[in-house]
Amino acid sequence: MQQAKTAFLNGVPYDISEGETILSFSRRIDETNEIPTLCDDTRLAPYGSCRVCSVDVALTADGPRKVMASCHTPITDGMHIFTHSERVEKLRKNIVELVLSDLPEHMLTKSLTSPTTEFEQVVNETGVSQVRFNSPKKSFPASNSSQETQSVDDSHPFMRSDLSMCIDCNRCVRACDEIQGEQVLSVSGRGFDAKIIKGQDVSFKESDCVSCGACAQTCPTGAISDIFREGLASAYLENIKQESTEQDNPKPIDKVRTVCSYCGVGCNLEVSVKDNKILSIEAPTDAEVNSGHTCLKGRYAWRFYDHDDRLDSPMIKVNGTLQKVSWQDAYEYIAKRLTNIKTEYGSDAIAGISSARCTNEENYLLQKMMRAVIGTNNIDCCARVCHSPTAYGMQKSFGTGAATNSIEDLKQTELILLIGANPTAAHPVTGAKIKQKVMKGTPLIVLDPVKTELARYANWHIQLRPGTNVAVLNMMAYFIIEAGLVDNDFVQTRTEEYQSYAQAIQALNIDQLAAIAGVDKYLVKEAAIAYAKANKAMSFHGLGVTEHSQGSRAIMCIADLVMLTGNVGSEGVGMNPLRGQNNVQGAADMGCQPHQGAGYLVINEPNNIKAYQEHYQVTENSLVNLKEWPTEIGYKIPEMFNAALAGDLKALWILGEDVVQTDPNQQHVVASLENLDLLIVQEIFLSETAKMADVVLPGTSFLEKSGTFTNGERRVQRVNAAVPAKQGCKTDGDIIVEMMNALGYQQAPYSPESLLDEISKIVPFFAGITWQNLGDNGLQWPVYEEGVDTKILHINNFKRGLGKFHFFEFEESTEVLNNSEKLPFILTTSRNLEHYNAGTMTRRSGNEIIVDEDVLLINQLDAQEKGIEDRSKVRLFSARGEITLTAELSDKVNRGVLFTTFHFPELMINRVTGDVTDKHTKCPEYKVVAVDIDLA
Ligand code: SF4
Repeated sequence: MQQAKTAFLNGVPYDISEGETILSFSRRIDETNEIPTLCDDTRLAPYGSCRVCSVDVALTADGPRKVMASCHTPITDGMHIFTHSERVEKLRKNIVELVLSDLPEHMLTKSLTSPTTEFEQVVNETGVSQVRFNSPKKSFPASNSSQETQSVDDSHPFMRSDLSMCIDCNRCVRACDEIQGEQVLSVSGRGFDAKIIKGQDVSFKESDCVSCGACAQTCPTGAISDIFREGLASAYLENIKQESTEQDNPKPIDKVRTVCSYCGVGCNLEVSVKDNKILSIEAPTDAEVNSGHTCLKGRYAWRFYDHDDRLDSPMIKVNGTLQKVSWQDAYEYIAKRLTNIKTEYGSDAIAGISSARCTNEENYLLQKMMRAVIGTNNIDCCARVCHSPTAYGMQKSFGTGAATNSIEDLKQTELILLIGANPTAAHPVTGAKIKQKVMKGTPLIVLDPVKTELARYANWHIQLRPGTNVAVLNMMAYFIIEAGLVDNDFVQTRTEEYQSYAQAIQALNIDQLAAIAGVDKYLVKEAAIAYAKANKAMSFHGLGVTEHSQGSRAIMCIADLVMLTGNVGSEGVGMNPLRGQNNVQGAADMGCQPHQGAGYLVINEPNNIKAYQEHYQVTENSLVNLKEWPTEIGYKIPEMFNAALAGDLKALWILGEDVVQTDPNQQHVVASLENLDLLIVQEIFLSETAKMADVVLPGTSFLEKSGTFTNGERRVQRVNAAVPAKQGCKTDGDIIVEMMNALGYQQAPYSPESLLDEISKIVPFFAGITWQNLGDNGLQWPVYEEGVDTKILHINNFKRGLGKFHFFEFEESTEVLNNSEKLPFILTTSRNLEHYNAGTMTRRSGNEIIVDEDVLLINQLDAQEKGIEDRSKVRLFSARGEITLTAELSDKVNRGVLFTTFHFPELMINRVTGDVTDKHTKCPEYKVVAVDIDLA
């Protein structure tokens, strides 16, 4: 057995851990024995530039002592470290004094009187009280920047730099490189002329900065810092100041840890709150998901939470106008109308759409209300319009419709396959991790019709025609089988249906498929062989796979590739959907689906019916009694609209979804909602859908509620209210509970703790989850009774026993088949980095200052043929309708393909999108729309 290695910290022996530096060793042993640092950040590689962290070191007990920078010196066996000897304290003081000598005087004064920044605290702690050296201050030579004051850059809505306060620690430059991978910041000049520059020495606004705020978060002096833009924020901050001085005892700043409510990465956030107002949001460095990093949405796009547009009272429509009413009146009105509809038309004339922005507990409650209080399985969520094919396809292939691995497995993988996803825009923290990994040499295959940012870094970018994923995935399988690279052991022991699958694949006409997809077959072959040869290959996919008529089939084709190569069931491999919304995984887990209840139990199997009835305490005499218990599969969202139009669905309850803006074929959605007898909308703003409602109930944002979200890697994390619900609003959980009681069901008050307890009794993979044991970093389901969670699925067996191969022929979408003669272009859509879906939140947060319109990307040659110039206004039309928008000439799309984002709903992009859906799940085909274009 190897003997433990020991080092002595101020004379006391401690065991050394692998890979420790003197600084990390000292921090682990004794957090209170602070070694001051300036250039160190635990998220960055050791740098050793400021030397403030110097300590006295002897290699033996009696050996000579030497001063060493602790941050980058590895600790060794027998080493003696003295962290606060007289000479190192003196040295630190001299260094800090020298640093101060370059800086404006106010920085010393502030350090002595009210130190707040990291630098000011170090100055204070090292005991510098004056600066004896009269050095020149930092100079700022001529710059390309359009800024008038060279040291100050306030061109950005969220960040500001004043480089007269810069101490050249280069933490911002390193954060930009090592955390975000953007390389926007660098150092120009030497000595007193050294300064941090953005791009080619331009302003933040003119640079390629992606506004992640990593530089502002790491800067120890405030030379780069968060701001609120004048007019938006100074008034806001002034307001907080006034409110707090009005109080006798203003509260100190609280830090509340919660989880971002934008994408499915699930970044942890640390919210600074004073007097019930949010001051700022940063990323906690100990967060397992995001290790002190976020994108600009999590970090800066939170101002919507107290925007003037927030709803502040329940409303009922009277003579076509929404009028404010009391909560009691709203509940009584809804209860009466729902009861009448149920009596007259039956429970199935009522439906609910749940929200991926709300907590697991709120989603659980809404589906419980629909099933146990109304008596219908007509409940669905926005997974229908995004990843329902993922859940369906992965369940068919593996038995579980969720990510097989964790994002941290990127550290182990040896190749990345990215299909139909643009994570640097849509899942930015994961995107940055992929980019970092690829920049360090891990091969990347990208299948995408658009030249995304990661496609530029890819070894193989297969730029297929939109809608042809199945063709290309089948080609990859063909080449893997042809090259004899199938993992036969895995296939024989862990899977079924391989023989028939392989026969069908081998019979394919590869040249024909290559022509259909518009790809080079040799490129596909190289990529397929690289994927199969990698020891560990990890696949990620997004809505570019699912939102197609063959969405579920493409998912099963990816699962085929994963099984062919044995890339599942261990570290650094697997099949990992990048979930769109923060809690879309959770909404489906909680049973907001018409065919599966909480925990994915199929709703029409006798054992499951019994389990649900017992769980919801259904008896002969309960509100929904044993005979009325719903056993038929309910409506999926598109079916709800059809049923409403047909007059079969009379009432719809929508929680936090703006279906008018976000669902395809807007005219159809509007006509359906107009045909309802009762539309109830729970919202934070008066969305286009809320405007159509008969009753509007003002809910709350994630910053005002507690519960849990489940991210894309099955991680259930605690969401903690940072501020109370806005006046006049209630948390969505409270609203549903009060409504259940108004309808006659006895539901206990909303409490995440007790609801998690209730959920853990019916959702098998939540069995070991409690509010307490989730801790700060959450647990990945399945969580067993002892609280042990699961990072990797399907290690020895698939959930369904054997993994199942499925073969599907490529089928052209009817959207293309029926329209391509008259409408020769294919429009495909995606998100950009700055905005989120319909922009409801991001456009009320200042992000509009960075990106203020959706543009249409068109290939230069197509534009030439059509007489379209860069920034021309163009008319885009499909078989459903037309819109006008700005064209941008781009090499990101091939000829015949158009691309746009959909964050500015006033453009009405969903007037153009169609009705074609995935064959198995009815997920709309947003990614293939037959269109044409001309000058407006
Ligand atoms: Fe939020 Fe996703 Fe950005 Fe993280 S990456 S901060 S979860 S939007």
